[in-house]
Amino acid sequence: MIRLTSAEQLLQELGITEPEEIDLEAIAWHVGATVKRRILDGCEARIVGAGGRAIITVNTNSAFVRQQFSIGHEIGHWHYHRGKSLVCRSDDIGGSSTGSTMLERQADKFAANLLLPNYILRPYLNQFKKLTFDTIKKTANTFGTSLPATAISLTERGPWAAMLVCHGHTGRKWFSRNAGLSDYWFPNNELHPESSAIGILYGADPDQVTPRKTSAYFWFNCREAYRQDIYEQSIYTTEGDVLSLLTF
Ligand SMILES: [Zn+2]
Repeated sequence: MIRLTSAEQLLQELGITEPEEIDLEAIAWHVGATVKRRILDGCEARIVGAGGRAIITVNTNSAFVRQQFSIGHEIGHWHYHRGKSLVCRSDDIGGSSTGSTMLERQADKFAANLLLPNYILRPYLNQFKKLTFDTIKKTANTFGTSLPATAISLTERGPWAAMLVCHGHTGRKWFSRNAGLSDYWFPNNELHPESSAIGILYGADPDQVTPRKTSAYFWFNCREAYRQDIYEQSIYTTEGDVLSLLTF
């Protein structure tokens, strides 16, 4: 039997079995926290607690799905880091910046497990044969989650051998990898001229609607890459980067 994460235990305490039952304000209330939505200057969300009660405030200037992730993140702080007053910047929440601390990563993981719990997600994913951005979009709509957060969760925790790589104009920014893939699948820092991603990053090509078969050595330097084909599907992001979904 698979062990439940802390976030999943919390959902099960509340008898939640369907995506639409994941009501973050009700979950926060259950653990003693009240959620307030208002314009915040200079931060994405914060939590202030005393005794067994806390107030979580999220920035209404952010997209709704982003606010939801931030609430999950703050509930994570309340679960793990009680006693600390925390102010979380945009980069801290769901960020990929290497500068964010262990506490922030822990709160992010809690949010991902709260919004996309394995015990609901895994059976839901059975309807999809492949991991594509279409699969990610449908899942994001069902669970009310953002595209990037859903893409990372499905890549890391889905049943597919897949990797998600983000490149900006100065090279690779971050990547996430399915647990089933070996460590030697480490993506190159620079985009290969033969990749679809490079044309999309520089605005020459549109997003890839369907994955394209390609050589793994356009993406990886390891020996195994020279005798394997993979699929690439790349899209342009609102931050001006290119996000590539590589499936094996
Ligand atoms: Zn935080």
